[in-house]
Parts: sequence; C-alpha cells; structure tokens
Amino acid sequence: MLNRQGRPTAAGEAGINAHPTFTGNKALAQVEPLLFEIGRYDTTGVDIDEPEAFTPRLGGLERKEAIGLPGLSEPETMRHYVRLSQMNYGIDTGLFPLGSCTMKHNARLNERMARLPGFSDVHPLQPVSTVQGALELMNELGRYLVTLTNMTAVALSPKAGAHGELCGMMAIKAAIEARGEGETRKVVLVPDSAHGTNPATAALIGFVVKPVPAREDGWVHVEDVKERLGPDVAAIMLTNPNTCGLFEPQVAEIAKAIHDAGAYFYCDGANFNAIVGKAKPGDLGVDAMHINLHKTFSTPHGGGGPGSGPVVLSERLAPYAPVPFVHMGKNGFELVEQASDATEKPFGRMTAFHGQMGMYVRALSYMLSHGSDGMKQASEDAVLNANYIRAGLSDLLSLPFGNKPCMHEVLFDDAWLKDTGVTTLDVAKAMIDEGYHPMTMYFPLVVHGAMLIEPTESESKSSLDLFIATLRDLAMAAKNGDKERFTGAPYHAPRRRLDETRAARNPILKWTPPSPVAEAAE
Ligand SMILES: *Cc1c(COP(=O)(O)O)cnc(C)c1O
Repeated sequence: MLNRQGRPTAAGEAGINAHPTFTGNKALAQVEPLLFEIGRYDTTGVDIDEPEAFTPRLGGLERKEAIGLPGLSEPETMRHYVRLSQMNYGIDTGLFPLGSCTMKHNARLNERMARLPGFSDVHPLQPVSTVQGALELMNELGRYLVTLTNMTAVALSPKAGAHGELCGMMAIKAAIEARGEGETRKVVLVPDSAHGTNPATAALIGFVVKPVPAREDGWVHVEDVKERLGPDVAAIMLTNPNTCGLFEPQVAEIAKAIHDAGAYFYCDGANFNAIVGKAKPGDLGVDAMHINLHKTFSTPHGGGGPGSGPVVLSERLAPYAPVPFVHMGKNGFELVEQASDATEKPFGRMTAFHGQMGMYVRALSYMLSHGSDGMKQASEDAVLNANYIRAGLSDLLSLPFGNKPCMHEVLFDDAWLKDTGVTTLDVAKAMIDEGYHPMTMYFPLVVHGAMLIEPTESESKSSLDLFIATLRDLAMAAKNGDKERFTGAPYHAPRRRLDETRAARNPILKWTPPSPVAEAAE
C-alpha cells in the first residue's frame, strides 16, 4: 500500500493492520513526509514584492541558481512541525525511564521564571552595570551548588556534563603542571562501569586511560585502585552513585588512597540527584565534579542542548577555575573575564561567554521552590521510586548484583530472558508499543544485556504501578513463548524497527529529489 507520496503507508509497513488507509494516517495519528516532499518551489508563505533592480556587491559570490527551499503556507508549516512534535515522546507525555539520564519533570514555574524579560533578554555584551540582577542570580546559584556539594569554587560556564568533565580534568591538568609533574603524571584511572564520556574526556586532553575492572558486586574496590596507583597517576574518574545504581561504599578510602598517591579525585556527578541533601561530595574527598543541571536540578534536556554542566572544585583546584566568574566588587557584582585580571591561576576559558543564563534561572528556581528539605526529599523519593520498581519486578527480572537496595536507578540484566529467544533490544521495542520510552539498554557495559531503569521522583505511585504491571505483562509474555510480540516490535510506532547499524554506518543526511526513473519503476 502506497500513500499519496508514493511511499509505503505506516499501515502497510506494519503488515498487521487489516484496514490500511489511503492517506497512511491512522485515525487521528498523522503520517508526515519531509518538508521537501510536501513543499513546492513556486510557493511562499508570505508575499514579498520583487526587489527593484540592484547591483550585488558580493564580488561574484551571489547565488546563481534557485535556492531549492520548499515553500509552504503558514498553516502547512505549522501542521508539519506540530505533527512531528506529536510523534515525539517526552517527559510531558509519559514516564521516561531512561537510567543515568534522569528524565525528571521540568516544573512550569521554572519556565515562567526563565521567560522573565530581565533574564531572557539579557545580552552577554551588555555593560556589567545593567545586568547586576543576572550576575547576582549566577552568584547565588554558584553559592547553592558549592554549599550542596561542600566544595570551594564553581565554574558555571560549561555547557553540559561532558563539557564539565573536560573543565574539571583541565583544572586537574593545570594543577599537575603547576606542580611540575605534567610530564610524569599521565595516567587517569577509569572504572569499567564509567560513562563513555569519562575515558573520552581524559584521552581528549592527552591522558592515558587505565581501566579499573568491574567486580561481581558492582562496586569499585580500594585494593583494585591501590594496585594501579603510582607516581604516573594524575587522577581517577569515578561516578558515585555509580552507573549500576549503587553507592560506592569505599569511596572515602578510595579518595584517601588517591590523595596519598598525589593524584586527584574527579567525580562524575551525573547521579548527584540521588544524594542531594544526604551526602556532600566534598566530604567524600572529591576534588572536581560536574553537575548536570538537566539531571539534578530539573532543567530541560535537549531543545538546543542540555545547556549547562557547572563544575565544583575543591580548595586544591579552586585556583585553576576557568574565567569568567562572578565576584562581589566595590561597586556591585563584577565579572572576571581575563586570566590576567584574576588573583589566582585560571587555566583559561571553556566558552565564549558566561554560560547558559536560561538554565541558571531554571535551576535556581527549582532550588528555591524546593528549599533544602524539599531537595532532600526529592532525592529520597527518587531512591524510593527506583526501589519500588526493583521490588515490583525482582521475582520476574534478574538483578546482576543480587536483590540489594539500589539508589535512584535499578539495573537488571538479561539472564531472565535466557532461552526465550527475546533480547534486551526486543523488550525495549515492545515497551514502545506499550507507550513507554525504553529504559537505557546495554549500559553499563559491565552487565550483560543491561536494562537500567530510573523513574525519578516525578512519578506517582499509580504511574509506577502501571509501569510495573506493563513490564510484568511483557516479562510473562516472553517467558510464555510469545516471541512475536517482541521480535516484530514496535508494531504501533510511526516507524517500524529500523536498521540501526546501517543508519549509523551509512547515514543519509541529505534529501535528494526522487529521480523520474525511480518514480516510474514504483
Ligand atoms: C549524562 C551523563 C554524562 C554526560 O552528561 P551530558 O550532560 O549528557 O554531557 C556523564 N556521565 C554520566 C554518568 C551521565 O549519566
């Protein structure tokens, strides 16, 4: 069955719909071709008068041919994007159990605050005297972050978690070079369970990555770290709580061993949302840690990049914090923009300007509306919700490290799928049919067929109950031999299962008009 664009209809693709439609739409769910396929070159959404004759001054660089952009009316354009948005799944449509990514509710209050013109309309090149309120807000956010983590300094400018890692590791590198050990301390220890960005960050700035192997209990052991320590080690990059959803019980001993060996402790703080108000990384011996505002402090993911991954630094690393930073001067708040204006030794700068103002406003709005007791309770509820899911599924799904309490996320492996012919990927696809975004799959790598589930504190008990019931139904179906429900899934999504390997290896990133020959052949 072909739709009006001559492409197979969603119903035809599915092969399970006995009533394929002419349009390809299914009831009120619309299929949507590319803009290029629905637009026409001879149409525009606005009427513009032909320009008067003029002589171009582009020195021969002016365009000689038609621009080739599709023209659509305003309603057609509007519908195109609204229809695409309706195919999207987000935290505003349902539970988003992506472990490690922490998809929590983005409070509407934060959005209102960020849209206040005094915040949304500031320009990074405005005179400092005209943006005192914005600087005060940045200063206040920094103060909260430093207090919640018990650290000394904060760099607000990094634009994401991975960018924050780079910032923290550059501060460590600067500190090591200042000690005259830049040539000898080249090794960074990274546990096998780490997020891929950790080894990538270390390697990017010239460190040699040495893995710390995973143990059967999911924890990093101080003996394993000690064994690898020496005068060549610059730092360890450790995530706590780790990516198996477990708090590292030996973290303080690991920190001590690292410091005794003259190295630094970088903590990947992506999972800070599990311990805000309960434990302070500074108390655990951390020297640098990034904070993903989009994971811990409810700023939105995506939509132009997460936007902000501030880094907190210990006393030992604080002098190397990058510019710019805000400080209180004689005439109000000032921005230290140049390394030469700083009293310390900043390693440089991470971004052109000061960072993502909109995210600062949202994060501080979250902090102020929750208060210290509210932030602590959010951590507790996030952990409670993850454990509720663990308890609700532990008789059917398998837990790689035994049925012990987890932190904010619960990690299952695929041992429970043995002999069913169903894989972790199949379960994820079947979840799409049930209206859920899949959990994080195949990460962390230390567990076979990993399924990492993080409900966050946003979910109500009834929402969790439905999610658990759905997964129980799927688990039962897999165990009872209903393989088809999985291997053919998703049946109901706008697109069926994609060839992800081919898409990654041979991406088609450019639309080319269908050639007349191909059209005739169809
Ligand atoms: C999300 C995450 C990162 C990277 O953060 P981004 O903001 O996506 O760059 C690093 N480590 C861990 C453990 C994470 O979950």
